[in-house]
Amino acid sequence: MEISVIGGGLAGVEAAYQIARLGGNATLYEMRPRAKTPVHKSDLLGELVCSNSLKSMDILNAHGLLKEELRRLDSIVIKIADETAIPGGRALVVDRDRFAARLTEEVEKNPAIHVVRQEITSIPGGTVIIASGPLTSDPLADEIIRLTNAGNLHFYDAISPIVDAESIDREKAFYASRYGKSEAGDYLNCPLTREEYDAFHDALISAEKMELKDFENTAYFEGCLPVEVLAERGKKTLAFGPMKPVGLYDPRDGKRPYAVVQLRKENASGNMLNLVGFQTKMKYPEQERVFRMVPALKNTVFLRYGSIHRNTYVNAPLCLNEKLQLRAAERVFLAGQITGVEGYLESTLMGLMAGISAFVSDRGKTFFPPPASTCAGALIRYLTTENKHFQPMNINFGLFEGYSKKTKEASVERCLADIRTWKIHILSSALEKNTLSC
Ligand SMILES: Cc1cc2nc3c(=O)[nH]c(=O)nc-3n(C[C@H](O)[C@H](O)[C@H](O)COP(=O)(O)OP(=O)(O)OC[C@H]3O[C@@H](n4cnc5c(N)ncnc54)[C@H](O)[C@@H]3O)c2cc1C
Repeated sequence: MEISVIGGGLAGVEAAYQIARLGGNATLYEMRPRAKTPVHKSDLLGELVCSNSLKSMDILNAHGLLKEELRRLDSIVIKIADETAIPGGRALVVDRDRFAARLTEEVEKNPAIHVVRQEITSIPGGTVIIASGPLTSDPLADEIIRLTNAGNLHFYDAISPIVDAESIDREKAFYASRYGKSEAGDYLNCPLTREEYDAFHDALISAEKMELKDFENTAYFEGCLPVEVLAERGKKTLAFGPMKPVGLYDPRDGKRPYAVVQLRKENASGNMLNLVGFQTKMKYPEQERVFRMVPALKNTVFLRYGSIHRNTYVNAPLCLNEKLQLRAAERVFLAGQITGVEGYLESTLMGLMAGISAFVSDRGKTFFPPPASTCAGALIRYLTTENKHFQPMNINFGLFEGYSKKTKEASVERCLADIRTWKIHILSSALEKNTLSC
């Protein structure tokens, strides 16, 4: 049976390639050049819409490890990225035109992939993978809403930074919830004196910000304003808003701080902490500089930076199962950024997983995701774990099962061993024999 893949970006190309590699057939629908997105410039498949850096190559960095995982899973995207790499220090930087041209060539010459240049406005029959990305066209977005319910498809993300819990100075922070309204352990408060608050406020206002793109309509942000925009509204706006200290007393002196930055657990193990209400357009180095002015955050390690941008993604914990199928329509799989991951290669990895999962399910077999000790498994677990505050996520070690900074090398080794074992099992289950090299 033919599997339809909607969207010829990084995830769609990877999904179609995996289906073909396993012996299936895919029809890959790409709307460009017939319909355009506000950012793509070419007709090529797998076009990188912004930076040509695919981030670190060091496998002791989560982004580097994700690349190695993709290599071991025979990803076409990483193969072509390696082939078209240009000097970029410790990052994998590609020649963007050659990268997209080579990907297009590989896909178009593959006899098991049929490329159709057409905008999909209603979801085709049979097994379908939707990989239409952060700029999914409106008619298709309406179709996804029909399957997932309004309110479960989001068009912007307003992301607060996430920091490594081990990197907080506990001598300068205390657990408490405002007026004891929730469990005291739910919030870790980082207090500021009046002078510290004033300096922090001034730094927020003067920090360098990322430009909004023309198509990013700021009106959408009213409900979820960047922290620096709140700061611009007045010296005390933050102290009466997300930094309000009411109902909080520092156990060290029994006094109420002038202001606090509240950190909330991002996952069950509590090794990732979210800066509540600090969605921001500050540039990444500025986020480090400004947030480290909070005494308890002086040496903090950032796992995810804050951002606010145009995106299209589902509320994954409500909409997706661990096979990356829509709970409401299991013949429909999601892949790429629309699943709720962030970034070129995270999207690629979710394309690879969706391609294998759709192929396996099309053959009447059972897909099981890799364990949460791997990048793919950790991301799928994040996407499918109940989360009232779900926001898109990039790869970081905080997502890994049992991760600690002290045992990073062991976690990396375990990841690579576990992905190998998973690959052997899933392929032998998919093909009923182990025919591919591992
Ligand atoms: C402005 C902007 C800047 C970004 N900068 C970066 C960055 O610097 N680094 C980074 O890691 N990530 C960045 N991202 C995120 C990055 O774009 C995604 O992580 C990645 O491209 C997602 O891959 P994808 O395959 O899911 O979607 P895409 O690569 O966007 O591919 C989706 C494809 O689907 C097609 N499509 C959409 N609707 C339809 C339809 N109805 N029918 C047929 N085809 C359709 C589109 O034309 C597109 O080719 C940025 C995103 C945006 C919007």
